[in-house]
Amino acid sequence: MSHEIDHSRWYVKKAARKALVTSAWASGYLAAQDRKAIGPRVRVLTYHRFGDSPYDPFCVSRRDFAEQMRFLADEELAISLYELEEFLRGERDLRDGSVLVTTDDGFRSVYTDMLPVLIEYGIPAVAFVTAGLIDGQPRPTPWRPQPVDPQDAYLNWDELSRLAESHVAIGSHGWSHRSLGELSPAECRDEALRSRETLEGRLGRAVTSIAYPYGTLADFSPATGQILADCGYTTAFTSQHGAIDRNADAVSLPRVKVEGGEALWMFRLICRGAMDPWRLVDESLSRMQRSGR
Ligand SMILES: [Zn+2]
Repeated sequence: MSHEIDHSRWYVKKAARKALVTSAWASGYLAAQDRKAIGPRVRVLTYHRFGDSPYDPFCVSRRDFAEQMRFLADEELAISLYELEEFLRGERDLRDGSVLVTTDDGFRSVYTDMLPVLIEYGIPAVAFVTAGLIDGQPRPTPWRPQPVDPQDAYLNWDELSRLAESHVAIGSHGWSHRSLGELSPAECRDEALRSRETLEGRLGRAVTSIAYPYGTLADFSPATGQILADCGYTTAFTSQHGAIDRNADAVSLPRVKVEGGEALWMFRLICRGAMDPWRLVDESLSRMQRSGR
């Protein structure tokens, strides 16, 4: 049975990202931002799935991911969540251009494809997992309606424990992947607490960080940030693009999305800030960006 999928959106988005990254470099934007910077800037990369899935922007091939991690290792740019948290508390200095690797949703390929590469290159990372979906079955996505690849299954507790033992910090991605920005304060608190307490109970490790499900402007606010802080989180990450400096608000930290099907030169420029201006797209098109997980 064949499934007709319209790939036009993939090509349009790829062209837009490439145009932005290229022009950020060619126009001197990156150099100008470097001159303006008053302190070190950190970028937090967001991944989702790993493996071979053409036309799926949320899936990065293992080969591309290995090239990217080798680059971070060679340049000594990778930092841990712990180091970022110390930096935000003013207890640690970091090199300008430092990078923290994160992945959202807790798909099984984090264990099968991401972890071996992290170990090979000695890169610390954070896996944000939706606690209520651990051990869950694969679900269709807009890019792969059917059949669903078993690799799209969620991590199980055993795999999650092994990730945690391999220096991958485990963070929360909510309990049910609902938008915290659209919940009542009581529901938001329940998502935040239930996910943290479950992960801590099962893994025996402190969970200090959370990534907002979806992470668009509609999905977080100063009120949600306050609830998360009250629930014991010291850092919370959005999907808004940009760099983090030492004055950043620790409960609405921006990240930079890494997409599948992009060359290493783009990754290198993205790490230098070439996708930071995508924030303007985040701000104007936040509703359209909710189609993915
Ligand atoms: Zn998600």
